Amino acid sequence: MKIIRLKPAKEKSLLRGHPWVFDGAIAKGGGDAGETVRVESAEGAFLAWGAYSPQSRIRVRVWSFDEGQRIDAAFLRERLRRAIALRAPLAIASDGVRLVHGESDGLPGLVVDRYGDILVAQFTSCGPERWKAVLADALLELTGLSRLYERSDASSRALEGLPEVTGWLRGAGETACVIHENGWKLGLDVALGHKTGYYLDQRDSRGDMADYARRFGFQQVLNCFSYTGGFSVAALAGGAQHVTSIDSSGPALERARANIDLNGFEPARATFLDADVNASLRRFLAEGRTFDAIVLDPPKLAPTVAHAERAARAYKDINRLAFKLLNPAGVLFTYSCSGGIGIELFQKIVASAASDAGVDAVILQRQGGTADHPTALAFPEGEYLKGLVLMRRPG
Ligand code: SAH
Repeated sequence: MKIIRLKPAKEKSLLRGHPWVFDGAIAKGGGDAGETVRVESAEGAFLAWGAYSPQSRIRVRVWSFDEGQRIDAAFLRERLRRAIALRAPLAIASDGVRLVHGESDGLPGLVVDRYGDILVAQFTSCGPERWKAVLADALLELTGLSRLYERSDASSRALEGLPEVTGWLRGAGETACVIHENGWKLGLDVALGHKTGYYLDQRDSRGDMADYARRFGFQQVLNCFSYTGGFSVAALAGGAQHVTSIDSSGPALERARANIDLNGFEPARATFLDADVNASLRRFLAEGRTFDAIVLDPPKLAPTVAHAERAARAYKDINRLAFKLLNPAGVLFTYSCSGGIGIELFQKIVASAASDAGVDAVILQRQGGTADHPTALAFPEGEYLKGLVLMRRPG
């Protein structure tokens, strides 16, 4: 058994239950990639069992804070069972569900999503990488499913010295499938889609969009960064007359178009623009177009606090343009999935965008991720998605 000895006074975050040990906190000790190590304080007291990552700045990710715990197949199976059981009472309105959400489920470096009868796993650090076969078998056994696709192509793998790996890990077959979310059909492809195939974390916000469309009677909706058109389907399902979806990914828009068909909406109610959002918003402004509802769901602009300043300018710019395109009493659904930008800063950015646009707006609702993407209290880094639903004050 290998021991990682920390420098003096570096045990505080572990004692609070935070699951990471940074390289700079370690006085001595090491291990192989993914090997289970015993982490001790400078005084030699037991702190945690964790998985060693020789190349990562996050050198150890904790499996357990219990000294009596053996890290073996039974332990990992129990963590998976616990994660799946946590979701059972949530009554999630979809068969597309996140079953394992990394650190917040006590399984650092592992994400597992279920799309109908397909499981998709992402192994992002050395610990789960080493236990891949055990985790895959346990997942099939616990869910009763037979197919597991691996999407270990997250860029963070490089920080761990791990290569990108994709393909069927268990079973085989079509990678395209259809999930049923909030009563709608949404097609996706677990091999070709972003992340593990779809943005499951925006399920509740899409559900809210349908409700707002119903209550406010939106005529013209603009869905920016639409990906495969989830918010567009939601708006049409809520009765919106017409939705314009913008994305810079052609394949995503093709699927968005297919998703409109799949739900039986008149093709004339949807327009698709394969274009840059920023340029499109400027063009609409020049053309004098306006909308009753606008969605802004950009990709992660600030992965860490270090990127926050430049990202803040980018967020402000698109939000300012969106406010200018919004009709009085119109509704803006604006999001940030940047871990480096907290909700307080995001709200300030949006406020200053409204002020620059000369628009008075009120917050109708605050949104976050979905309950199947839980945040462990000891791991606030796990919380990344925030959303504001704002109404331009009429008159
Ligand atoms: N709202 C979507 C998820 C959006 S993910 C949903 O509910 O599923 C962000 C999307 O922004 C991706 O599809 C990506 O292709 C697109 N994108 C990134 N940069 C862009 C840009 N500059 N202009 C247009 N689309 C962009």
